Amino acid sequence: MSTHSPWAIVWLRHSLRLHDNPMIERCIHEGYRPIVVYITPSRELESDRWGFTPLGPHRKRFLMESLIDLRSQLNDHGVKLLYLEGDVIEELSRVCNALGAPESVKLYADREYAYFDQKIEAEVEAAFDVTWFHAQLLTNPDDLPFSVTATPHIFTKFRGKIEKYVTIETSAEEAQWSKLSQQEAALSASLQEYTKALPCDAKDTLPKDNRQAFDFCGGETASLARLKDYLWNTEYVTTYKETRNGLIGPDYSTKFSAYLSLGCLSPKLVYHEIKRFEEEVVANQSTYWVIFEVLWREFFRYIAWQHGRHLFWPGGIQHKPVKLRTNHQFEAWRKGETGQPFVDANMRELNATGFMSNRGRQNVASYLVHDLGQDWRAGAAYFEHQLLDYDPCSNYGNWNYIAGVGNDPRAGRKFNVAGQAERYDAQGEYIHLWNE
Ligand code: FAD
Repeated sequence: MSTHSPWAIVWLRHSLRLHDNPMIERCIHEGYRPIVVYITPSRELESDRWGFTPLGPHRKRFLMESLIDLRSQLNDHGVKLLYLEGDVIEELSRVCNALGAPESVKLYADREYAYFDQKIEAEVEAAFDVTWFHAQLLTNPDDLPFSVTATPHIFTKFRGKIEKYVTIETSAEEAQWSKLSQQEAALSASLQEYTKALPCDAKDTLPKDNRQAFDFCGGETASLARLKDYLWNTEYVTTYKETRNGLIGPDYSTKFSAYLSLGCLSPKLVYHEIKRFEEEVVANQSTYWVIFEVLWREFFRYIAWQHGRHLFWPGGIQHKPVKLRTNHQFEAWRKGETGQPFVDANMRELNATGFMSNRGRQNVASYLVHDLGQDWRAGAAYFEHQLLDYDPCSNYGNWNYIAGVGNDPRAGRKFNVAGQAERYDAQGEYIHLWNE
């Protein structure tokens, strides 16, 4: 590559990794020098209608750790990471202007699937020369045996079609870093100025609770270590189906979700590593079941894409006529002070750590909607604020489902919370841990 290779912007939305990163790979392949940009949109930093900041402190810490890790890896290749906050179009325009005329700067970016993110995509498309990639998906939408608008509403049908007709592509090739010459790495001073400082180390920004299920540390490096550990070192993947309803500790489930949500870990890599494990070690119901769950993640992305803004509406994707309300009981739920010990324990874990098991999430969501009669959207917004692994498609998809306005073939999921506690926390260990 000549020393005059032009700049191009790689705008990483939720693909904070170097492995399976087709945006960076293509950018370098097409002869550009990437400048990698991450933008926290203003919306995530401002109070929502319920008074919560979407990007709460747990996910912010995890995001910062992920960006610090990404910056360090990009630095090794002489590539800069810019961290920006604000209006996406304005921020991209500022970077484009600093690099050259906006109309001549190329952009490479990963697609999102929730309505508000897709709306931004349309604006970006109108303003810039952008090439999009489906880097957050396991499947390629063009390979599906149905159009997105005809995505099956029932998960079992969706999964059946994917398993029967779709081949999961291998990860994108590694970028040809050697094509970049080190001399080109300098950025103009004006561009340097735009960048918000990333902390050197995000670990001290929030104290960690030693009861947490897993030592969630953001970034690709930690995500690859967890993948290796869960499959190859401990082989816990071979017992996932039996342990996945657990509540305490790192081993009952994969703990991949936060890494997948920010894209520190590629779903394709997870899929192909499990397939390799099945060939080299053992294939059983548990190894299959992790892929089964990752397909739920995939399903909710297509459902979000298919239904647009309705996923966020009171009547959900079913457009059901519903009347919703919130009162002091929502506050009690949020703080873990309902008096229902299983619900309270789970909410306290969420508040202290940013994580809650799937079993816990189903129960607290059901309790809020079906026992306390509260607006499911307030619960979803609170999850958005607290969860390390928040993503709009999985979060609002699951809340729709439990509230009875989503994909459930039954009319919503009401859990007998006391019965669930007896079944999954028979000795009361979990309740004791978080209510002490
Ligand atoms: P594992 O049990 O090990 O599963 C492996 C992977 O499969 C997960 O990492 C995740 O990517 C995917 N997965 C598993 N279950 C689901 C599911 N029900 N829906 C979608 N994907 C799934 N998950 C999120 O990633 N982000 C969210 O914002 C989110 N909000 C939720 C809200 C509610 C009300 C409920 C009931 C579930 C929600 N989930 C969400 C799904 C699920 O609870 C978490 O993905 C899971 O608990 C994360 O732990 P794990 O990585 O150890 O999962």
